[in-house]
Amino acid sequence: MKEIAKKIKDSIIRVVLYIRVSTEEQAKYGYSLESQLNRLKEYCKQKGYKIIETYIDEGKTARTKLKNRKELLKLVEDAKEDKFDRIIVWRLDRWFRNVADYYKIQEVLEEHNISWECSDEDYNTTTAMGRYILNLKLADAQNESDKTSERIKFNFENMVRCKRPIYGSHSFPIGYKVAGEKKNKKVVKDPNEKQVVEDMFNKFKETRSIRQTAIYLNNKYTYRNFEYETIQRAIKNPLYYGFYRGIEDYCEPYITKEEYEEMQKMIKRNSKNNIKAYDYLFRGLVRCYDCHRMMTGNTHKYSLASGEKVVGYSYRCGRYEHLRLCNNRKGVNQNKLENWLMKNFFSELNKYVMKIDSTKTEKNNLIENNDKKIDKLKNRKDRLNELYIDGRIDREKYDMEYSSIIEEIEKLNTKKDEIKPINVEKYKSLLDNKTALDIYKKLDSNHKRLFWLEYIDYIEQDGENEFKIFFK
Ligand SMILES: [Zn+2]
Repeated sequence: MKEIAKKIKDSIIRVVLYIRVSTEEQAKYGYSLESQLNRLKEYCKQKGYKIIETYIDEGKTARTKLKNRKELLKLVEDAKEDKFDRIIVWRLDRWFRNVADYYKIQEVLEEHNISWECSDEDYNTTTAMGRYILNLKLADAQNESDKTSERIKFNFENMVRCKRPIYGSHSFPIGYKVAGEKKNKKVVKDPNEKQVVEDMFNKFKETRSIRQTAIYLNNKYTYRNFEYETIQRAIKNPLYYGFYRGIEDYCEPYITKEEYEEMQKMIKRNSKNNIKAYDYLFRGLVRCYDCHRMMTGNTHKYSLASGEKVVGYSYRCGRYEHLRLCNNRKGVNQNKLENWLMKNFFSELNKYVMKIDSTKTEKNNLIENNDKKIDKLKNRKDRLNELYIDGRIDREKYDMEYSSIIEEIEKLNTKKDEIKPINVEKYKSLLDNKTALDIYKKLDSNHKRLFWLEYIDYIEQDGENEFKIFFK
């Protein structure tokens, strides 16, 4: 009996968690104590570890000296008494930021047969290669700031799970705002907007029309503007029934899930009467000259001289059409625009490519130069790490050198983004293709549309029958 009890006892791995947070890092990168703790608990549960203790060091800065990390020292004392078998940390840089400290503690741990592992990084310290990699990592962790989006994303997910807002009030739709103090922020109904949102949903349920709802709201609340698209987006937004990033009861709802689903069907039913979407060659490509918004497709039926009935396509500004908030009454006729493009597209494209080409060589030289400088700095960083690991330079000198190298690399990377060349190869090969226009004429409307989407960012009306093309 005793034997079995001992066996069971031996098969359970006793672990302790070690967490280190600094207010500086929390403010800068957002990884918090709770997110680390939740992640570690989840990890241990997966692995079947038994958590017997949690040590948490909180400090102002990330660079706390070993003697100031009280909880870590307590952990070492407990290790000496063999109170646990393994230490779990989130990432190596939570555990150590400097090689010397690491070996000091590692010695104690090895003496007592205690191992450690990271929940989110994998280290194999049983091989020479693994230990070498660990050394390099430690040298890097000493200085390098952590700002990869992975980590920020991890923290965001955790915030959503705790029903806390990731962004400020401005990023939530009308009717909601962010309230509460720092750690207890929540998304709540905005009492100032509550009535507006209720009016919006009631009117839409009654009329089943986004346009009618917009007109009603603009008449009732004359001091503000309700765009057609704003209301359309709101009705499609599941947040209004409390749903956000996979969480069903993220915030207090305005409508029930059933009401929400019913409204989606209404919107679909309305758009079913529309002509096939791809018959609009320039949908999402034409902007209003007056208010610069994307114009929406319209159809009208008319008879030819032969008596044959046909459908005409045009683009109109929704702000004029639905709300009379813009002066563009005329809109754009699709046939007119297509004819204009067939006449002018290639000459406009040629002008554009020549303009880009004239600055290209200069820009490429600048970038090449910049890249060379970055490579040199990276080599210097590698050499520096090796020198430090080999003990040939001291900590202070290492720190100074390291941060100046990182700073310079960052400067050069920013500069590179600013130079950024535009790739005109695909435009050139199109210009070389003398049959492009003949091919275009033979395409069906779906492929014609894809053709324009490939090269044009958007088109704007420029006078009665003139247009301006903005290339991608
Ligand atoms: Zn407009």
